[in-house]
Amino acid sequence: MAVANEKQGCLSVIFPFLKRSQKTSKELPYRLRDDFLSPAEFSFYKVLSSLVGSQLTIQSKVRLADVFFVARPNENMAYFSKIAQKHLDFLVCDSVTMKPLFGVELDDSSHKRNDRQERDEFIESVCKVAGLPLLRLAAQREYNSREIAAQIAPFVSEKVSVSVSSQPEVSKQVNSVPLCPKCSIPMVLRTVSQGEHKGKQFYGCQNYPRCREMKPITA
Ligand SMILES: [Zn+2]
Repeated sequence: MAVANEKQGCLSVIFPFLKRSQKTSKELPYRLRDDFLSPAEFSFYKVLSSLVGSQLTIQSKVRLADVFFVARPNENMAYFSKIAQKHLDFLVCDSVTMKPLFGVELDDSSHKRNDRQERDEFIESVCKVAGLPLLRLAAQREYNSREIAAQIAPFVSEKVSVSVSSQPEVSKQVNSVPLCPKCSIPMVLRTVSQGEHKGKQFYGCQNYPRCREMKPITA
């Protein structure tokens, strides 16, 4: 008896869901989708992945809120909800740093609808203000890999210099506290907690870790 109990205990450690599913007969209603990527998306994905090689990584269906953040915290709620449920069709990142390089939107016939156009314009504006190039292509059953190669060339060849934070430096200061060049909000004083610079102070962004801008303290 003791052995049996012990066995069950072991199993429930390995498969915690076993125990739960025994208790409740009502099954959760989730099933795996057979159309994770639409035919047009999958066709494009295959062409794109053959072009970018291993230097770049393609993410599909990426939520805007996982790519962008709201720079001014007191406006967070309203602006966050606008990006919380929208997705980019594809996001291409540098494989080494996972830094986003450019986004891709495939426009099918639904993109002609008014509400859809509003959404598309909003996504375009978000990408523009945050400095992420966005490629918009008509959804097709088949893609010409030469055409796609030409379209992505500007982003791929300059992949090191294309960066989300490549915005002009803002040198404005408020009461000697610098503004974050990316978020345009006052930075905060931080202290290095470890390593050879331990104890040294610097200005960091309030939005850390979403924003990693920092500035030295100047006398
Ligand atoms: Zn910042």
